Amino acid sequence: MPVFKNEMKTMKTHILISGAGPVGLVSALKLSLAGFKVTVFESAPELNMDLRASTFHPPTLDMMASFGLTDDLISQGLIARYTQQRDRQEGVVAEFDMELLKGETQFPFRLQCEQWKLTQLIKKQLDKNPDVQILFNAKLESVSQDGTQVQAKVKVSDEIQVFSGAYLIGADGAWSSVRTSLGIEFEGFTYPERFLVISTTFPFENHLPKLSYVNYCSDPVEWCVLLKVPSLWRVLFPTKVDESDESVMSDESVQSRLQHLLPQPQAYSADHRTLYKIHQRVAKTFRNQRVFLAGDAAHINNPLGGMGMNGGVHDAMNLCEKLIDVVNHHKDASILDRYERQRRTIAIEYINSNTARNKKMLEERDPAARLKSQQELRAIADNPQSAKQYLRKTSMLDALERAESIL
Ligand SMILES: Cc1cc2nc3c(=O)[nH]c(=O)nc-3n(C[C@H](O)[C@H](O)[C@H](O)COP(=O)(O)OP(=O)(O)OC[C@H]3O[C@@H](n4cnc5c(N)ncnc54)[C@H](O)[C@@H]3O)c2cc1C
Repeated sequence: MPVFKNEMKTMKTHILISGAGPVGLVSALKLSLAGFKVTVFESAPELNMDLRASTFHPPTLDMMASFGLTDDLISQGLIARYTQQRDRQEGVVAEFDMELLKGETQFPFRLQCEQWKLTQLIKKQLDKNPDVQILFNAKLESVSQDGTQVQAKVKVSDEIQVFSGAYLIGADGAWSSVRTSLGIEFEGFTYPERFLVISTTFPFENHLPKLSYVNYCSDPVEWCVLLKVPSLWRVLFPTKVDESDESVMSDESVQSRLQHLLPQPQAYSADHRTLYKIHQRVAKTFRNQRVFLAGDAAHINNPLGGMGMNGGVHDAMNLCEKLIDVVNHHKDASILDRYERQRRTIAIEYINSNTARNKKMLEERDPAARLKSQQELRAIADNPQSAKQYLRKTSMLDALERAESIL
């Protein structure tokens, strides 16, 4: 008997996704290209345009190339061939050439590009697919499930609606309603200090010798990170624990931090400034029957190393490949448990531990410990073999290989 187009439509497996951030949208794209019907709920009225992640690591670029997105991202970003560990007083401590990763990835560099450019590009592709629906002003309130379906109660504008699907991906960020609705603990801690990110058009590259696009600058008093995106420099500083939000965000404190970094006769332009609470947390479980957590909903970490969005995208790819295997290739549903075994291990052993270590190294106060870590970094950078190993770790290639080794 012939199968008609509308019948085929109803046969498609329906996946619900909470959150239209990078992780939700990468999931939507991967699943829709595999023939799934996808509904994405986004509580905000439009895609988020905040300046958050600015670094795409090589394996993430490899993954996005499978969707034909990487060339567009590169055309809107900056290729950072080098990354630097610096000392605020002494300048460059160690420089790493990412070209050492040639042969390990199609893109041996970091791409400095705002995360909203990725979500905008993906949305353009999704909008062409009639099987994908992105609902804005749609806040997931709760989740329930039985043996065959998941139900999501969603407030769409002011009306509560219930959606059913075969599976649901909670990609609704750090405050995930999916996670809360299922009572999944978010284990870990919140740092007492907050991070201030100031964006400025000031051309630091013309004033600080040998600056790269990605610079981690240690200092016993006030470390910082200097990151370039196409239109701006973004400077990240820690704040003092007892400094009020109001004081940190004031013109006076912003100017004083920048002037202390590099004294200038004129005031700095500092159009965007954002203050973040920083956490190291991992959800107790990434799977509850037909519901999965991915990205910030599953794990959050400090931004030192640029691993949050990248790690979340790696979660999305891992999970969606398994859902495709189960639904399209009739693999046993038990393979879905491997998602948690692989990605939760990476979140703990790799993402959280490396970002915490990066912070510790930047803020180290003990002169002997600082000297030791600087000597170690120099020795690593001076030897191409150890530099390559270091870059495999910092660019998350090792994490993906480790995940693959987990059965
Ligand atoms: C200053 C800073 C710098 C960073 N730099 C980097 C970097 O260089 N590299 C990197 O990899 N990462 C970086 N990160 C981390 C990165 O921004 C996050 O890890 C990333 O945004 C996580 O993506 P996500 O899709 O999981 O969550 P989000 O981007 O938070 O998206 C979640 C979406 O879900 C929506 N939502 C929330 N609740 C609901 C609900 N109940 N119903 C429906 N929708 C809902 C939200 O509106 C949002 O759009 C940085 C973060 C900060 C703060």
